[in-house]
Amino acid sequence: MPNYWNPWHGCIKHSPGCKHCYVYRQDEMYGDGKRANVVKKNADFDLPIKRKRDKSYKLRSGQIIYTCMTSDFFVEQADEWRSEAWAMIRLRKDLRFFIFTKRIDRFRVNLPDDWGAGYENVIIGCTVENQAMADYRLPIFNELPIKHKVIIIAPMLEKMDISAYLNDEIHEVATSGESGIEARILDYDWILDIRRQCVEKDIPFCFHQTGAKLVKDGKLYRIHRYHQISQARKANIDYKLRRDLEMDTEVQKKLRFD
Ligand code: SF4
Repeated sequence: MPNYWNPWHGCIKHSPGCKHCYVYRQDEMYGDGKRANVVKKNADFDLPIKRKRDKSYKLRSGQIIYTCMTSDFFVEQADEWRSEAWAMIRLRKDLRFFIFTKRIDRFRVNLPDDWGAGYENVIIGCTVENQAMADYRLPIFNELPIKHKVIIIAPMLEKMDISAYLNDEIHEVATSGESGIEARILDYDWILDIRRQCVEKDIPFCFHQTGAKLVKDGKLYRIHRYHQISQARKANIDYKLRRDLEMDTEVQKKLRFD
């Protein structure tokens, strides 16, 4: 059962974090003719409203749907398709759509008229990779009417200070290194420093994955892609739970009130 939806594929490199974009790497290895720098609508564009033979939706109710993982939802070349995508998101209120973007400055392009203070079923992850991008994107992010906001620091390229942008509207800060043969180094001290900033503001923090090259205590570790998430988990430095991002299923409500 898929828990992702890629309405279009391909993207244009945009900022330093895009240098080794995994969409480009995946297409080079297994792209089957796809070209990552050409933005095309996918056959599964309307997946959220597709139904199985028994008439039930293909995307099972109650899930978080990772949206537009092989592109950027706000990429210019998809402007003509975005209104239709928003309409499907509005229709499937029983799903929660998690959208990551490096183009938060284009958020309002084709935003639905009834967006208001934001759709309850949309989580927006504003991605930043260095101090300059944080200082540009996060003030914009903070001003936008979005019900569920997450800051994604990925791939983290340098030590960063985001403390000025942490407020009660931020549900979580998630940090990651870079994958791939040419990955840039992640210093574990940078991660700990972001964690400290989150703890000081009581904002949930997650060390999602180490990336391929992690420096800890001055020593460089090369980490196979199969272990990058588990190694970050082993560090055991996450702070608080991501409760706000989960669906309010009946089971979760029950657990909460028991
Ligand atoms: S914005 Fe994301 S998908 Fe687009 S090129 Fe950059 S890293 Fe790749």
